[in-house]
Amino acid sequence: MWDRQTKFERNPILISDDHRNSNPLELRSLPELIHEKALLYPDKIALRFRDHVLTYHKLTNSVNQYARLLAEYGIKHGCIVGLAVDRSPEMVVIMLAIIKSGAAYVPLDPEYPQARIEFMLEDTGACFLITEEKYGDRFQYKGKMILREDLLRQALQYPTTPPKIDIDMDNLVYVLYTSGSTGKPKGAQITQRGLVNFLVEMQYEPGLDENDRVLALTTISFDISGLELYLPLITGAEIILTDAQTSKDTRLLMEIVKKQGVTVMQATPATWRMMLESWDKRLPIKVLIGGEALSKKLAEKLLEKCDSLWNMYGPTETTVWATFKQIHGDDEIITVGRPIGNMYAYILDSQLRPVPDGVVGEIFVGGVGVGKGYLNRPELTAQLFMDDPFSDMPGVRMYKTGDLGRIVNGGEIQCLGRIDHQVKIRGYRIELGEIEHTLGKQKGVKDVVVLPKDERLVAYVVLEKDQRARFAEWQKALRRTLPEYMIPSNFVTLPAFPLSPNGKVDRNALEAIRQEMEKANRVYIAPRTEQEQLIADIWSELLQIDQVGIKDDFFELGGTSIVAMQIMARLERETGRRLPLAGLFTANTVEKLASQLELDELSISWDLLVPVKPTGNKPPIFIVNGLDMNVLLFNNIARNVDPDQPVYGFQSKGLNGVDEPFETLEDMAAEYIAALLEKDFGDTYALAGYSYGGIVAFEMARQLQAMGKHVKMLAMFDTYAYNRGHFETGLPRYIRKVKRQFPKLMFVTNSLMRQPMETIRYQQAFFKRKYNEFAVYMGLQNPPSTDSAEDKINAKYEAAYRKYHMQPSNACIIDLFRVDTRLYFLDDPIYLGWKSYALKGLVVHNVKGNHKTFLMPPNDKDFAILLQRLVDKRMKPEADT
Ligand code: AMP
Repeated sequence: MWDRQTKFERNPILISDDHRNSNPLELRSLPELIHEKALLYPDKIALRFRDHVLTYHKLTNSVNQYARLLAEYGIKHGCIVGLAVDRSPEMVVIMLAIIKSGAAYVPLDPEYPQARIEFMLEDTGACFLITEEKYGDRFQYKGKMILREDLLRQALQYPTTPPKIDIDMDNLVYVLYTSGSTGKPKGAQITQRGLVNFLVEMQYEPGLDENDRVLALTTISFDISGLELYLPLITGAEIILTDAQTSKDTRLLMEIVKKQGVTVMQATPATWRMMLESWDKRLPIKVLIGGEALSKKLAEKLLEKCDSLWNMYGPTETTVWATFKQIHGDDEIITVGRPIGNMYAYILDSQLRPVPDGVVGEIFVGGVGVGKGYLNRPELTAQLFMDDPFSDMPGVRMYKTGDLGRIVNGGEIQCLGRIDHQVKIRGYRIELGEIEHTLGKQKGVKDVVVLPKDERLVAYVVLEKDQRARFAEWQKALRRTLPEYMIPSNFVTLPAFPLSPNGKVDRNALEAIRQEMEKANRVYIAPRTEQEQLIADIWSELLQIDQVGIKDDFFELGGTSIVAMQIMARLERETGRRLPLAGLFTANTVEKLASQLELDELSISWDLLVPVKPTGNKPPIFIVNGLDMNVLLFNNIARNVDPDQPVYGFQSKGLNGVDEPFETLEDMAAEYIAALLEKDFGDTYALAGYSYGGIVAFEMARQLQAMGKHVKMLAMFDTYAYNRGHFETGLPRYIRKVKRQFPKLMFVTNSLMRQPMETIRYQQAFFKRKYNEFAVYMGLQNPPSTDSAEDKINAKYEAAYRKYHMQPSNACIIDLFRVDTRLYFLDDPIYLGWKSYALKGLVVHNVKGNHKTFLMPPNDKDFAILLQRLVDKRMKPEADT
């Protein structure tokens, strides 16, 4: 018999909790303990899942039926059964039935990559795989596959009485895979005795009774799920089981905790931190926290909200939790306390000698929970599992945890981090070596180091000579074998790694380099959410760039206003959300755009006035959009004018598909002015308008003048001022049209000679449009759809122009920017109709390009230089208008 009390007295370095003596050799099996509770509380609820409940009686009956059925399939002592099923009450029944049949299970998270699951199946030599119909053809598997759906049907035909199976307490109960530093995961083998000892000890402290309700949120691929699923059942308590989706959403978890009156919940610090965000009032709940270091700050916050807080420590290899400590507000140091019953912990030096109290050493864990080592990995097992020299029981072993620690408070363990490169990210245990190994095999990668940073992984890569970075490709390759939490999201490429004096990679220096590069925006940060992924994919396709990181700037990637329109249209198609094109000025990265998508409709800015480039001390220029509604085009101007020149644009009302577009040009101008005045830009203005927008700017000048404001510059970006005759109908229109035909023919002939291809293309498009109009008129064709917000606005703009009475203006000189390439005929190609309206004078400036391209590269540069010269001239304080 093991007597911890005597051991403790004999060896003061051994830290052990001496609260009681139990004999690990007398432990009974898990099925027996549950059966006992089922007899005691047959009608009590054992498990609750959504609206579904299972009483103890029903649960054990089902387990018995399933166990008999499994036995018929051939599942027995010594078998390892792969289990890849969704979270449901049946999952629990199947797990218990496997245990009852004397076999062990290996949990296979269906969300893991296929290759990883296949590796585990092969490594364990699992003779059976129990899975869902929907996952049936996902894995290459040579053994016998049993579908959950079949089990459900078949089990009903079996007796509900317990099958007669003797369980060997030293047989395996489960095999759990954890990340392996040499590139492959490793399977820790856990015995029934270790598991039951752990459960019985937990029942005692932190403690559980039949009135408790335990939330079971952890995936069964994590050892701590054992506490959530089995501890309530050996106690007569209730399991509140959550599905996979709910488990990831801490807001939903908090709702369940409150609604279902959960009294015990266990999670990692990362999950508790998130829980706190939706945790308002204090709750009568026992909080178990473990898997990662608990900070004092988090402990304080949790203590304010819960009944009691317990810090739990233990590697998978030693069966869930090996030590624990109740944390109080006045604890100066957060420790993981002492071992649970029948478990031991030692702090040893490199020669395996106990170190004195307070001195840092490595934590070793001994006792009944120490597992049987790693499946098929004798060398690694020999390295980490060794005879326990402090125990006088023959064959007793201890496990080398790789954790640094020291003894404080006269016998408690303080964890001080890792010796090796094992890390925890959001509670997941990761060997960085496994990622490095897998990434190192990818094309172009010469050397790689992976480091954790704020709950994410950063991969530092030295490229092979003449190779380029292939971040997205590498991530894809990693996803084939590694679970999502092991995929680095940030990549940094370096010519070589910095080395420390002993010739090793200087990991600390790497972090400093990353910070520098991040400042310079040279770190690739992969999308983290579905929204970011969607946007990055769309950008990468439309910008024709291999990979787009979430911090990359749309304009720096070469984004043009046309691509911007395509992006927004595509996003609308994919998400049903409409975002303003102008939003790209501020939401110019994938990350920012994704957060715009998260906003509710009302929080998205559809302001009429768009700050294209709001900084600079010069008088701002305000440009009204044309019929294409694309204010993003003005970015080409903003980029090429003086750094000190602010540029604003106006975008149409109604683009959000909700607001009604303007009915008249006067209204349009009035609201644009209202938006201007709201911001207080002073009393003098420089206005411009692109194409149709020129007419609006003209009307704005008139209204501003009437208000006593001073418009000192009014620029038309290739705007044609049609006189009233243009909009006449009936006979006058007909006469005007006939009169135009001869000069028009001359123009087209001329144009054909100068630029044949462009002219033909333009004429083709023109005739096609005319034909379509005619076909619609004759009823041969349906009118084009005018459903989109843009179509609706365009129709209103046309109508507004028709209604508008343009009056000559004496506001200021009009600067007309006229393109040098025109494919369509104009009645007045010299002054574009402005002569009679510009009472203070009209100055024509020839600019390169046609009506569509003059604001685009390469023409935008010269255009902006010319514009800047004019703004400077017209806006000079003493300039005469
Ligand atoms: P796992 O096998 O996933 O349970 O991870 C075990 C490792 O997590 C330990 O070796 C420690 O490095 C770390 N760990 C677990 N619990 C704690 C804790 N309460 N405080 C600090 N580290 C912990």
